[in-house]
Amino acid sequence: MTLTTRFAPSPTGHLHLGHAFSALNAYHYAKRASGRFILRIEDIDQARCLPEFTQAIYADLAWLGLDWESPVRVQSQHMADYHAALDRLREHHLIYRCFKTRKAIAADIGRAPHGLDLPYRGQPLSPDQEAEHMARGHAFAWRLSLAAARQHLGKGFDDLTFIEDGRGVQVARPQQAGDIVLARKDLGVAYHLAVVVDDALQGVTHVTRGDDLFEATGVQRLLQALLGLPIPTYCHHSLLSGPDGQRLAKRDRAQTLKALREGGMDPSDLRRQLGFD
Ligand code: GLU
Repeated sequence: MTLTTRFAPSPTGHLHLGHAFSALNAYHYAKRASGRFILRIEDIDQARCLPEFTQAIYADLAWLGLDWESPVRVQSQHMADYHAALDRLREHHLIYRCFKTRKAIAADIGRAPHGLDLPYRGQPLSPDQEAEHMARGHAFAWRLSLAAARQHLGKGFDDLTFIEDGRGVQVARPQQAGDIVLARKDLGVAYHLAVVVDDALQGVTHVTRGDDLFEATGVQRLLQALLGLPIPTYCHHSLLSGPDGQRLAKRDRAQTLKALREGGMDPSDLRRQLGFD
């Protein structure tokens, strides 16, 4: 199988230097092995993603000197694929409807309601209770049941591992994330589900991305096992930090590739600064 990497930004803002590093890393990883490099636009969260940012991603990466296969997979155009995966999980009773509000969940686990996916573990309601909520039109989320997943996979649940390039076999720890939300009315489907479906569908053999997503790999590895998907090799790279030692964030306007590009920076200088070429 041809070695295949991908860069999968979410168009929620302009790309910054950290993204440039990540994209170059994925690109060179593939090119060194005469492999394929794929660009994927992860815009399922339509409340936060804007088409103008997608256009800027294309412009920034082309300016940076990258080329990629076309057509580019734009996740919002493939929701049926993600819903089909959700249906498969539902058929195996691996997901359940959760009607609790974030506030109720935070109270349950005794933590302040920050972050979308609190490490919550729940269980399906009885058919009667569920029917009552549905009849009242209450909003709900589909959560992945760790208990059901454990039952489904048997001993395999505790033996979930993945290969981290250069670091060998890693134990996946999906338990740390709790019963994660996989779909919600306002969200469509969650990032984790779309990512594993697409990585498999696009034949991604090496997932190159920042260290901030290392923990996400545990959940994604579990989803791969439950959906019978191939397991890529993972290559998490360290994150670039700014002069103040802080992680580069999307809000640092001055650091956006657009600003550098429009300010007349030579992209070969930038590539060199980031350690490429
Ligand atoms: N779309 C994700 C992000 O922009 C990255 C997903 C991934 O590389 O797996 O943070």
